[in-house]
Amino acid sequence: MSESKPQPVSEKGPPTARPDWDEYFMRIAEVVSLRSNCIKRKIAAIVVKDRRIISTGYNGTPRGVKNCFEGGCPRCNDASIPSGTRLDECLCSHAEENSITQAAYHGTTLKEATLYSTMSPCLLCAKLIINSGIIEVIYNQRYPMSNVALALMEEAGVKVRQFG
Ligand SMILES: [Zn+2]
Ligand SMILES: [Zn+2]
Repeated sequence: MSESKPQPVSEKGPPTARPDWDEYFMRIAEVVSLRSNCIKRKIAAIVVKDRRIISTGYNGTPRGVKNCFEGGCPRCNDASIPSGTRLDECLCSHAEENSITQAAYHGTTLKEATLYSTMSPCLLCAKLIINSGIIEVIYNQRYPMSNVALALMEEAGVKVRQFG
């Protein structure tokens, strides 16, 4: 496992170079992450089957709830709460979670699909990924507390690797 800092995808190579499939989907995910409404982190996930995007998600407050950046999530908006703590109080849905629930909303199966995420999944998202039938996960940056999540996906037979 490489410990080097992952580069933002858009800085990887000249923009005219033809991207391979991983880079193609990861660059799209990076654009999707710009739609995040969370003030803490901007993350996206896209689900792909047969090289076709079948669902996308970014993190933020649930549908119909005030945006995180407008004060919708008290936990994210409290600067005194250290990063990675009191996650049980966070009202923001995660990108992977949203890519899976969006598929449910539209009646799309994720069985045997691949998920690209700009950040490695947390434990809750790992469980959703496993039981939604996704069989492969490719992530860009590694979430600091993701060891258990990565091990769980591997145990469940989900192929996991870092982008690049
Ligand atoms: Zn938030
Ligand atoms: Zn998560």
